[in-house]
Amino acid sequence: MSVRLSHSASSRFQNCPQDYKYWYIDRYRPITQSAALLFGSAVDAAITTLLVSKEKSPEAIFAFMWRFQDLNGERIYLPTSVNIVYSDSDWDKDLLVDEDWKTISEKFEVADPQEHIKSLYALKKEVGFKGLSYDQKQVLNFANWHCLYRKGLLMIDAVRKKILPQIKEVLGVQVYVKLKNSEDDMIVGYADLVCKWKDDRIIIFDFKTSSRTYEEDSVLTSPQLSLYLHGLSSQYNNTRFAGYIVLNKRVDKNKTKKCSKCQFDGTGMRHKTCPNEIEARRCDGDWIEVIDPEVFIQTIISEIPSRTEDIVIENMDNVNTAIKHNNFPRNFNSCHTRWGTLCPFFNKCFRDSNEGLIQLEAKKD
Ligand SMILES: [Zn+2]
Repeated sequence: MSVRLSHSASSRFQNCPQDYKYWYIDRYRPITQSAALLFGSAVDAAITTLLVSKEKSPEAIFAFMWRFQDLNGERIYLPTSVNIVYSDSDWDKDLLVDEDWKTISEKFEVADPQEHIKSLYALKKEVGFKGLSYDQKQVLNFANWHCLYRKGLLMIDAVRKKILPQIKEVLGVQVYVKLKNSEDDMIVGYADLVCKWKDDRIIIFDFKTSSRTYEEDSVLTSPQLSLYLHGLSSQYNNTRFAGYIVLNKRVDKNKTKKCSKCQFDGTGMRHKTCPNEIEARRCDGDWIEVIDPEVFIQTIISEIPSRTEDIVIENMDNVNTAIKHNNFPRNFNSCHTRWGTLCPFFNKCFRDSNEGLIQLEAKKD
């Protein structure tokens, strides 16, 4: 029997083999889904459109994909779903526009949505998201959905302005990668973008949305990019270059402050009102705060050393062998993730409890 693995499956196995077994063999799924994954897919789809299509609007693709996606085999409507878990860093009230606040206010009949959300966050701090009522969860998620919607639009615009001008030629998007070993085990994946960069290098790119900055050596040590390079290099002039384009979810707001009366620039000033002196008199005008939000894009390009490629491929073979022998040890070091959250199978492992999980039907062959 040969094994067919996606990149994410192999990465799940490497994180914890038992997690892999619960997910792919027993087909357990957490009822909730992190917003990060759904948001990442929607942004990916929009950027693919931006890279190849002159007719279709990436914003329209994003607007659709950020509304409707499948969760555990069912199509869900994202804005009002309470099964999506947003991270605290997703929220930034300054990015919501008047229209968003109006929508929230009307939908949930709250007079002051800003105050309302603030109090919900205070409550969440005490009781956790799980401790909130259904309605409270819905309001909070609806607001967060709007915030990420704004961030997504800013990201598309940032790629258009900052990345497109650096690409000489798009050679492929969502390029299918298939690797086979001597035992016919396969690993498959999709490279987001292969292009001729401004300096004529051919580069295999993966787009990421993240709330943290990536390390400068993250491409050098990425199993994902090594696999893609291994599978695609011969099709693209034997290129050795791969890269990440990381769209940062913490949007820079570039806040500025202006006087409403005399237009005096008070950015960074602590005065309650405008201190500008006009004809020996203090202006005293009220400040108007303006933001000019900007997405920080990190482009990391590296030459993949053949050593990295070798060890990644060797590891692949070991993973396949372990799966074939039903070898699924628990990695107790990954019960708590780097982001401070629990593994979705924590209760399953430690209490043999299915709480928070559903089991999908077996796949038909
Ligand atoms: Zn003034």
